Amino acid sequence: MQDTYKAVEVSAPGTLRLVERPVKEPGAGQVRVRVEACGVCHSDAATVMGAWPGLTLPRVPGHEVVGCIDALGAGVTRWKIGQRVGVGFLGGEDGVCEPCRRGDTVNCQNPIVSGITVDGGYAEVMIAEARGVAAIPDELSSAEAAPLLCAGITTYNALRNAGLRAGDLVAVQGVGGLGHLGIQFARHMGFRTVAIGRGGDKEKLAKDLGAHVYIDSAVEDATAVLQRIGGAKAILATAPSGSAMGPLVSGLAARGKLIIVGVPEDQIQLSAVPLIFGGRTIQGSLTGTAIDNEDTLAFSVLENIRPMIEALPLEQAADAYARMTQGKARFRMVLVTKAGGA
Ligand SMILES: [Zn+2]
Ligand SMILES: [Zn+2]
Repeated sequence: MQDTYKAVEVSAPGTLRLVERPVKEPGAGQVRVRVEACGVCHSDAATVMGAWPGLTLPRVPGHEVVGCIDALGAGVTRWKIGQRVGVGFLGGEDGVCEPCRRGDTVNCQNPIVSGITVDGGYAEVMIAEARGVAAIPDELSSAEAAPLLCAGITTYNALRNAGLRAGDLVAVQGVGGLGHLGIQFARHMGFRTVAIGRGGDKEKLAKDLGAHVYIDSAVEDATAVLQRIGGAKAILATAPSGSAMGPLVSGLAARGKLIIVGVPEDQIQLSAVPLIFGGRTIQGSLTGTAIDNEDTLAFSVLENIRPMIEALPLEQAADAYARMTQGKARFRMVLVTKAGGA
């Protein structure tokens, strides 16, 4: 094995730089992963723009990482060398804070966050916590598995944990990186699935992904349409616009939930009236655990759900990131290394 590897690091806010780094041995409880693919996520901006509180640079971004284990740290018995695994946003919980002690590790107060508190997957090699990795099923290529580890789990967990029942009316706002997966999950979980997008050009795609109904919010009032067809038991808000999210509460049925998974830069404006009259709620949902990621991957195999991806070589990370931030990606950019076949 070579003793150096290529990585793309954020050297200063806004600057992605290709560097060579020395290969290190994994520490106790860690595995070393020979990265094959890493998805590019909007949340990578926390690292690339230097926005994450306490972030130290240089830092390698990336939290949709798939590759094969090539070294095991002391005490790791769960995984084998050569096994293909993935790492998502939550790289590992501390196990000692109050949420962790209550079993709510996703809300760990001192988490290891891939690509933010530790170096992530925009690289040929990543060191990961053994407790934070997920097995990748053979049916999925590394490039198509990668976005499922953040965009996939985020929408899958939000929907499956929402207390919904088969046949419920569920709307997915936004037909993009998160939304195109949310629509597929909603349909295959057995919900009456409505996609809300802007423009008629997305209707065919939304229906191909499984939406029963498409609402073009540029020409129709989405909340009025939702109310006309019975009101949504849940709306998954994926499009990063706070001003577009708030009014959706009025499209919910009584006791319906607006679930926020996209992070808008602007504030979400809310009217209290539809919250109180009808007992509607608004909540957020954050990623999931490593075993939730295995569930996401297994369900995707079971129901033939795949992300739509554009792959680029690792060396073109800056271009991939720019396409994502400019909204040009259809729908998830994935960086592929030589080990991944680039
Ligand atoms: Zn992400
Ligand atoms: Zn914790």
